[in-house]
Amino acid sequence: MMRPLKPVTPATQVVTVTAETTDGRVTIPLTPNGDALVSSRPLPAGEAYRVVVQVRAAPGDKPKNFRIDLNLATCSGCQHAEYACTCTEH
Ligand SMILES: [Zn+2]
Repeated sequence: MMRPLKPVTPATQVVTVTAETTDGRVTIPLTPNGDALVSSRPLPAGEAYRVVVQVRAAPGDKPKNFRIDLNLATCSGCQHAEYACTCTEH
């Protein structure tokens, strides 16, 4: 029997997003919006930087870290931002 996937419950999850920009670390607070978490302020400007997303299933739990290299520059090939680039060559 298939078990339904548990929905993510932002109520207990603790998510911290830290942008490691060339100007230093910027912590971006996330606020629940329905089933999603949205950043309550815009991401820092800049061409490319690393974003560290730290997720705790519940407050006090061992955190899981996800590192994302975010490149906000626009790709000359597809006109998408580099992090959303749809080109196959790169
Ligand atoms: Zn592209």
